[in-house]
Amino acid sequence: MKKILCYSGGKDSTAMLIHLLKNNAQIDDIIYVDVGDWMWVNAKDHIRQVEETLGVKITILNATDEISKGFQRWGFPSILNRWCTGIKRVMMRDYIKDKYGERESIVQYIGYCSDEEKRTGKPLYSAYDVEYPLVEANITNEDALKLCKDYGFDFGGNYEHHSHYNCWMCPLQKVDELYYIWKNEPQLWEQLRQMQLQTDGEYQYKRTIFHFEQKFWERNRKELEMRRLQARKKYNRKRGRPKKVK
Ligand code: SF4
Repeated sequence: MKKILCYSGGKDSTAMLIHLLKNNAQIDDIIYVDVGDWMWVNAKDHIRQVEETLGVKITILNATDEISKGFQRWGFPSILNRWCTGIKRVMMRDYIKDKYGERESIVQYIGYCSDEEKRTGKPLYSAYDVEYPLVEANITNEDALKLCKDYGFDFGGNYEHHSHYNCWMCPLQKVDELYYIWKNEPQLWEQLRQMQLQTDGEYQYKRTIFHFEQKFWERNRKELEMRRLQARKKYNRKRGRPKKVK
């Protein structure tokens, strides 16, 4: 039997890896699928850091071409057509089949945290038997992040503005997270605009990137206005002049 950890690079699979190593659990392979420039630029450094710190070798499968072809064909992924995760899954499955053969029994480690236990009851697209080491060890989302930090993994600070460490361009991210990119990552935003120009499909919920861009300008204008009013109020309070602010 072979036990395989499909590594996403995020806090949950990193915490799962740390936990399994600490408990001398069987790990025959750690597989990571590289989606090229869809992933945050610090991901490669993170993978290297994990290998060096934990003394493991991560098998990297390169999906850059398939992702690029997929985008030409289907445009942005969506909840109903998450073709990119399909590509990753097939790539991992083919690699496992080639390396270990069809007759080897395979167990896949899945990095759900204990506060996501209900996810374990949902149908999985894994072709293998599965184990949930974080659920079994009662490790929550918060514990997982702390465990990673204890080992010096900070994911380039991504968890300070994003709930997941996955593709920066993902249309399934929250609007606030997309707003963060618009505001703080102009190069990535320009890449998103260019991607939108290459496809007829919308970015998220029937809205294009240009729709979000327009909304974000307005949101930013309101935020600046609010900050200006608050600064004026504070200034007036300090001077003992409770003036009405227009
Ligand atoms: S994070 Fe989003 S864009 Fe990246 S593979 Fe997953 S669903 Fe696709």
